[in-house]
Amino acid sequence: MPVYEYHCKPCDGVFEAIHPIAKASDPAPCPVCKKKAQRMPPSSFAAFTMRDGYPRSIPDRGTYWHLEKEVKRPVTGSVKMNEHPEINKPEPRRQKSKGEREIIGERKRLEAKESARARKDGMPEIIDRTKRSDDD
Ligand SMILES: [Zn+2]
Repeated sequence: MPVYEYHCKPCDGVFEAIHPIAKASDPAPCPVCKKKAQRMPPSSFAAFTMRDGYPRSIPDRGTYWHLEKEVKRPVTGSVKMNEHPEINKPEPRRQKSKGEREIIGERKRLEAKESARARKDGMPEIIDRTKRSDDD
């Protein structure tokens, strides 16, 4: 059975309840005051009592709603439009593969060997300006 969202007028809050599809439009008892609450059309979401600008949920878990998803905190700081850090997780930084790390390690060993030999021969140290910064 699907989960629907209901709005309790006396409590002025939103809660979720499982209802059979056939009874989707029927009211559901509020978990707080037990009075019948009307199902919330998704489009009416923004019309509800707000906590810091977000509809509050009942039972009041101190949570917020973000695009019909429950989150612990309202959006703060800089996030993309319509995204929330708890829902839209930032992509983890790609780890270098073992092969890539071995290549980088080998290149560094060769560079060290090369500059050691250059110093021994009394030559100025080679400064590789073509080295890419992301190899470090
Ligand atoms: Zn209620």
